[in-house]
Amino acid sequence: MMETDRTIREIERLKAARRAVILAHNYQESDVQDVADFVGDSLELSQKAAATPAEVIVFCGVHFMAETAFLLSPEKTVLLPRAAAGCPMADMITPDGLAAMRDAHPGAAVVCYVNSSAAVKALSDICCTSANAERVVRSIPEDREIVFVPDKYLGRHVERRTGRSMVLWPGFCPIHARLEALDVRRARSAHPGAEVWAHPECRPEVSDAADFVLSTGGMVRRARETKSATVVVATEVGMLHRLRAERPDVTFVAASEAALCTNMKMTGLRDVLAALETMRGAITVPDEVREPAARAVARMLEVG
Ligand code: SF4
Repeated sequence: MMETDRTIREIERLKAARRAVILAHNYQESDVQDVADFVGDSLELSQKAAATPAEVIVFCGVHFMAETAFLLSPEKTVLLPRAAAGCPMADMITPDGLAAMRDAHPGAAVVCYVNSSAAVKALSDICCTSANAERVVRSIPEDREIVFVPDKYLGRHVERRTGRSMVLWPGFCPIHARLEALDVRRARSAHPGAEVWAHPECRPEVSDAADFVLSTGGMVRRARETKSATVVVATEVGMLHRLRAERPDVTFVAASEAALCTNMKMTGLRDVLAALETMRGAITVPDEVREPAARAVARMLEVG
């Protein structure tokens, strides 16, 4: 415990000395969330990264998130404490694959989930997060074909909500795909009367079994208003810490403990401290990729 306290004190000291801000995704380890200046979903963190006056951003998340922060703030130093923290879903699409898809669908608008590399974003017309995917798709003229990449489950969810049919890239989040409708049914019988929330990266049958389909930011907002004493949450288990901090009077239960993303759990307090000490792990993107990728992210932020 004393060792942890020392680490936290040193992080605070160096953060001030470096004029740094620590951003953490909702799925990070609880002690990393607790040391962060801001904890949020991808959209909230991109907006924070763009707005912060800090010169250094320590991004506790996975590679594409730090890259997105750099796209919006190239004048800042964006540090990813663990270089190996990637996203298996983002790796399911390559720029060459997307270029071939574009060729097969000339004239289509490419909507790209932010869980993707900067090189893939650069070939897209507009980005989206799970929080604003519906709004982004609705912003595209109805007579234009849409190619949605890389998450087929989020894409299918958006299709059902908007009534738009889209060409879906066959990617998915392997962590959310571990969740099954049976997990939700079991949780409902173990916690009668509980509200059930699912993330739109879940399989459609899991979303169908839930009461609400919400992004992690949407879950935080719903937590503030729910009247339910118990909530079953079908998303990555790190979310529970965030929700319990928001509503200590509500019991939050994981639909399945198997939904644990090891990439999201790679970063520890020592890694945050090492990043601030050494200033190593800076994420950069070459201008020829950054400019078109930043345009796709900026268009998303305009839609909101
Ligand atoms: S939870 Fe899924 S989408 Fe998020 S970083 Fe892990 S693998 Fe990628």
